[in-house]
Amino acid sequence: MIELTETMNNEAVSIFSDIESMNHEQVVLCHDKETGLKAIIAIHNTVLGPSMGGTRMWHYATDQEAMTDALRLSRGMTLKNSIAGLNIGGGKAVIIGEASQLKNEALMRRFGKFVHSLGGKYYTAEDVNMTTRDMEYIRMETPYVTGLPDYMGGAGDPSPYTAYGVFVGMKAAAKRAYGSESLSGKKVLVQGTGNVGTHLIDYLTKDGAKVSVSDIFEDKIKRITDRFSVEVVAADQVATAPVDIYAPCALGGTINDDSLGLLSCDIVAGAANNQLLDETVHGQKLLDKGILYAPDFLINGGGITNVYYEYAGNHSHDRVMAQTEKIYDTTLSVFDMSQKTNTTPHQAAIKIAEDRIKSIGNIKLPL
Ligand code: NAD
Repeated sequence: MIELTETMNNEAVSIFSDIESMNHEQVVLCHDKETGLKAIIAIHNTVLGPSMGGTRMWHYATDQEAMTDALRLSRGMTLKNSIAGLNIGGGKAVIIGEASQLKNEALMRRFGKFVHSLGGKYYTAEDVNMTTRDMEYIRMETPYVTGLPDYMGGAGDPSPYTAYGVFVGMKAAAKRAYGSESLSGKKVLVQGTGNVGTHLIDYLTKDGAKVSVSDIFEDKIKRITDRFSVEVVAADQVATAPVDIYAPCALGGTINDDSLGLLSCDIVAGAANNQLLDETVHGQKLLDKGILYAPDFLINGGGITNVYYEYAGNHSHDRVMAQTEKIYDTTLSVFDMSQKTNTTPHQAAIKIAEDRIKSIGNIKLPL
């Protein structure tokens, strides 16, 4: 009995230590035997408004890995939504399992019921392995979903807007690193040729960049090489590829101790969330190596801006593009602040995001 109590106490400590250190408000575990649904909804911060962030479906090796992803991603949403100037807080959901085998209407609708049970404290949208069709299924069970297709009055796929924000953020980084925002002739490696990667490649090739691409799936690479004139880099050669700009557009954590020893680019600017495996250590190491890092949660905010206006009920393509374009100026301000305060660009961007939450939180206090 004593042993059991000790084990339970240790487990309780390990669950809450991450939630406490990242300062989450609420974390919900969702389970349904019939559909095989196992999901985690992490609500990080609702000071600016209801939490919003996509749902990711992934075959996590362990439940702990899924929990860590949900916690890190939802915190990232708080920062992203704040620095983008949106009136929403940060949340994120992960569904555990291989999407190609497990995902179906019943599973998505069951998940929708869990989202509904939170009463609007969390709004979902698309993330990795999710489509507008999946959002339609969720909508059958709850109104707390965005990223719906146009024919349902939604704002559609957010990834073209995400790609545009990454493109302008990359241009701002080029301006700072090279003195010109032009990407013409620059060697840019896009890792991950999915939804965002494809649109980014389109922008880059049109701007005259020399693009190379990498993905773990042959068919995804083929879809790109059929359409664009690009080089292909093997998935395990990304860190050693001799490029000017590395654009991580697959999964997070690719800036780590291993890759940092190999990277020789001038700029890291991409769409993937949580690119820095350890934001303090690896952000500093990039700075020490003279590699300019455009913070992920700042430059990949175009997609959430798109779904935000859908949620707010006043969406228009031009409005979202105009707001996304502001990422260029914000990225330059972040680089300035980083230099002035002798911090990494990532830390500078966090400061801007957290200051906004603090100041808006203050005006919400009763008079
Ligand atoms: P996606 O699933 O369409 O594309 C991801 C691609 O990465 C896939 O083609 C996959 O095969 C590839 N990939 C996975 N592991 C890889 C590896 N080790 N090496 C090379 N390729 C690999 O996802 P997406 O919507 O394009 O999103 C890409 C990233 O951007 C994700 O991290 C996502 O969280 C982030 N993001 C997306 C949006 C959006 O609007 N879709 C918004 C903000 C952030």
